[in-house]
Amino acid sequence: MKKVPFVTKEKLDEIVKEYPTPFHLYDERGIRQNIKALKEAFAWNKGYKEYFAVKATPNPFLIDILREYGCGCDCSSYTELMLSEAVGACGEDIMFSSNDTPAEEFVFADKLGAIINLDDITHIDFLEKAIGHIPETISCRYNPGGLFKISNDIMDNPGDAKYGMTTDQLFEAFKLLKAKGAKEFGIHAFLASNTVTNEYYPMLAKVLFEAAVKLQKETGVHIKFINLSGGIGIPYNPDQEPNDIRAIGDGVRRVYEEVLVPAGMGDVAIFTELGRFMMGPFGCLVTKAIHEKHTHKEYIGVDACAVNLMRPAMYGAYHHITVMGKEDAPHSYKYDIAGSLCENNDKFAIDRMLPKIDTGDLLVIHDTGAHGFAMGYNYNGKLKSAELLLKEDGSVELIRRAETPSDYFITFDCFQIGKKLIK
Ligand SMILES: *Cc1c(COP(=O)(O)O)cnc(C)c1O
Repeated sequence: MKKVPFVTKEKLDEIVKEYPTPFHLYDERGIRQNIKALKEAFAWNKGYKEYFAVKATPNPFLIDILREYGCGCDCSSYTELMLSEAVGACGEDIMFSSNDTPAEEFVFADKLGAIINLDDITHIDFLEKAIGHIPETISCRYNPGGLFKISNDIMDNPGDAKYGMTTDQLFEAFKLLKAKGAKEFGIHAFLASNTVTNEYYPMLAKVLFEAAVKLQKETGVHIKFINLSGGIGIPYNPDQEPNDIRAIGDGVRRVYEEVLVPAGMGDVAIFTELGRFMMGPFGCLVTKAIHEKHTHKEYIGVDACAVNLMRPAMYGAYHHITVMGKEDAPHSYKYDIAGSLCENNDKFAIDRMLPKIDTGDLLVIHDTGAHGFAMGYNYNGKLKSAELLLKEDGSVELIRRAETPSDYFITFDCFQIGKKLIK
């Protein structure tokens, strides 16, 4: 599928007059259309709720948009809980799906009334010590181990993942929690990441639904929800076929009717904790070509670097690039698109065929709306960029300003260089 930026060159030329590159730009229209489609796909389930994975795009302005559609927040840290509280999410609007959790984070999650999703059986005692009781509603994270396969294709390797409890531990945990007073139970699993197939969720649902039926029978607990978590991917590469969320919703429904309904469990709510699927395609990184370099390879140096988008450096991930205004020019130049870090993996693309790039050209790096800005760091003393929202009416709102040197130095409370306090 041809990848076209959600912003035109004319609009972008206008935006860069006011906001210097690089920046992340988000598409309000796309975000809204997508959440509507997701809700429709799961409308058959009365209790359905999406808990947006805050870590993917921790920006309150964007989460506010999702909140309009009834989304909750999936958190895994203290500050993510703070952010959720700030957007008005509290109580069962927060899912706390953390791992290796510090006691004070359990305390805060409990104070907000969040649903706590336990990553390990030992966390039952740990939680009880931390907050003084076991909540009435509680969830456990399941990891059946082994390989997760779809018709012989290995999707991911849960047996190698640090998350979740084994099958035996899950049963044991439910019994223990019930004995300690828990009344409503949830099951959660995240077994494959960035899946670009309509089969992942239905297959995961089957694993979880079958476990739920056994759990309810053997332990007598009431299972209130099953959390399919994240993992629905996006087509980063133009060759990939995008997921059809309607087909995914229908697939889960079929398994629900096949496994849960006959077991008298037709009241179980389906939850999701999608991050990438909710925001990924609806954000891009806008950067400018500032250098061209002809050595052993052809390089284009841009004003963004891995600090703004780490996925290519970290995972070798593909992000499509559009050279604005040259969409129809022949892609006859082979470039490495490089950032300015003193790290040779700081490249947004390697040996990529693109139109001839001139200094000053604007490049749109696609699909940075999730796990993009959020993964940023400050290596080489580089500062994080602004985040902008392209609204439905065509106007642009600054939803996070760019960092300044004083942000970078702010954690030195008292170090003085000469007489100058860095602030
Ligand atoms: C990262 C994460 C998600 C979101 O994953 P996506 O791949 O962005 O959908 C959901 N739940 C948990 C527990 C996670 O760690």
